Amino acid sequence: MKIRERHEHESNSYDEDGISLQAISTNELRSIFPNLRKDDFPEQSLNEIDWGVLDYLGWISPAGHKGFVVINLDDRLHGIALRRAINRSGKPKTQMCSWCHHVYRGRGTALFTSTVHGSHGRKSIGHQLCMNLDCSLRIRNLVSDPPTYLPETVDLHYKTARLRAAIRKFIQRLNAQKFPQMS
Ligand SMILES: [Zn+2]
Repeated sequence: MKIRERHEHESNSYDEDGISLQAISTNELRSIFPNLRKDDFPEQSLNEIDWGVLDYLGWISPAGHKGFVVINLDDRLHGIALRRAINRSGKPKTQMCSWCHHVYRGRGTALFTSTVHGSHGRKSIGHQLCMNLDCSLRIRNLVSDPPTYLPETVDLHYKTARLRAAIRKFIQRLNAQKFPQMS
């Protein structure tokens, strides 16, 4: 009985339902990111995306310095526009993605930052994330370049719930002034 209680407690530690993403249309992308420039759209056609394996849609602008994330939380699509900075200098070191907890031995993450809503550009939040914003593929072992270091043994449901919870928290922090109760 005790074991069962503990198990229930653990499975509730991330209050996320793990719904995968429904296909998103170009028009929806335009309404999520009204200022999205034509040359920032994903290179891959939206029709070719395997939506069933995505917890969020993430892509890097072809120019390489911007990243975009779309996720469905509480039945609503949320978008995050990010700036990407890759540290190419210095010694490669072990780094972990803050969202999906994937560990890279060398270079595999990049610093992604986004401006806090209503701060007029004065305040931003940054996270080390998978450099291609492909956390969903990482936690499902669907991509191996750069290779995995320290693979995790927790199950996929736990990983997707943790990933969604991390992105939810990031969005809440970005909207701290809009939703003060969430800060
Ligand atoms: Zn990741």
